[in-house]
Amino acid sequence: MASRNLHPETIVLHGGYRQDDGTGSVAVPIYQTTSYQFKTTQHAENLFALRELGNIYTRIMNPTCDVLERRVAMLDGGAAALAVSSGQAASTLAIMNLCRSGDNFVSSTDLYGGTWNLFANTISAMGVEARFVDPADPEGFARATDANTRCYYAETLPNPKLHVFPIREVAEIGRSLGVPLIVDNTAAPVICRPLEHGAAVVMYSTTKYIGGHGTSIGGLIVDGGSFDWEASAERFPNLTEPDPSYHGAIWTEAAKPLGPIAYILRARVVLLRDIGTAMSPFNAFLFIQGLETLPLRMQRHCDNAAQVAAYLKDHAKVARVIFPGFQSGVMRKRADTYLAGGYGALVGFELKDGREAGRRFIDALQLVYHVANIGDARTLAIHPATTTHSQLSPEDRMATGVSEGYVRLSVGIEHIDDILADVAQALAQA
Ligand code: PLP
Repeated sequence: MASRNLHPETIVLHGGYRQDDGTGSVAVPIYQTTSYQFKTTQHAENLFALRELGNIYTRIMNPTCDVLERRVAMLDGGAAALAVSSGQAASTLAIMNLCRSGDNFVSSTDLYGGTWNLFANTISAMGVEARFVDPADPEGFARATDANTRCYYAETLPNPKLHVFPIREVAEIGRSLGVPLIVDNTAAPVICRPLEHGAAVVMYSTTKYIGGHGTSIGGLIVDGGSFDWEASAERFPNLTEPDPSYHGAIWTEAAKPLGPIAYILRARVVLLRDIGTAMSPFNAFLFIQGLETLPLRMQRHCDNAAQVAAYLKDHAKVARVIFPGFQSGVMRKRADTYLAGGYGALVGFELKDGREAGRRFIDALQLVYHVANIGDARTLAIHPATTTHSQLSPEDRMATGVSEGYVRLSVGIEHIDDILADVAQALAQA
């Protein structure tokens, strides 16, 4: 079956796996093993030399993780993918795969706080400079680029502002300068396909919508296979120069018999080998279960979110609703260009009575959970001023888009009447 002929709803059920060859099992088995019996010494030698691809050790590959990787790669129209232990591990590896000490990368300012910390502190302390630019002006990426810039990084649908990132504009700037764009598509799987808009690499926290059930932490990197690393060889010594850690392999050369997968091949056989942030087969199994219903769930998430946003917009206690479907001008144009089938499941709103009203709303919720998470099948809420953004000064908090009365909802797939009833009774007490 040619993958390009299949629709997302079908890929998530059939992609990359038919049945287990030994048992005929239709459900993807959990291959809970650390290692794999080599057929002969020649077979083992071929695997280690990458003359043949196959299982060696579960830190770098596993058949259950492999099905998840194939399915998500197919879903996004990529060449190959790599499953890792968390979304944070995915962003770390995505950057480290291209950057060495002394290099820089340009990142959107509109990021998940954990990614911001990773870039501004941990990765910077290793000598890789993160240059932050406001995505409202795509040209900022060009201005921040120099000869040592290795990649651009952004989120499709970053909260709390929920301004969709100008993927094609920045990807085109990058391609003209020989710089690949990496997009964190965690908040918009299925409804956005960043590779189709020119991104070179996509990453996910599978912890969120892909898992969908709030059970497991995981991450995934998808190599689009469309970026020409050799055309800007001097920018990418990790991929285009001999690797002393792998008997002098040049990854752009080594990948040629396997497909346009130099980037993800190195991430697997060098970074996952050395750093070891592997996804467990059991978690891969759970993500596969989540993935099977992802398109269905995303549709319900988006439909429910639109209804919650509409309800909040008319409420007397609500000063403002932050939702891509309510934006105007260039932000709305971007939302309509890059999102299809809905505006995502995140809805922000500002209570007129500020901080204390935000607290009262959260404390009054009965159905909706109060947690620091998004993308669960259940509806979730948080008051950032007293939680995720509480360490910031009020001025810095406002700069990130979080006012004192801001509440973030990650709208779930419950019946819409039950979600609205809980929001209504909590607003009555706010
Ligand atoms: N990217 C985004 C957009 C996120 O929301 C998160 C987590 O909240 C991450 C990355 C990090 O993912 P994880 O918690 O799986 O490490």
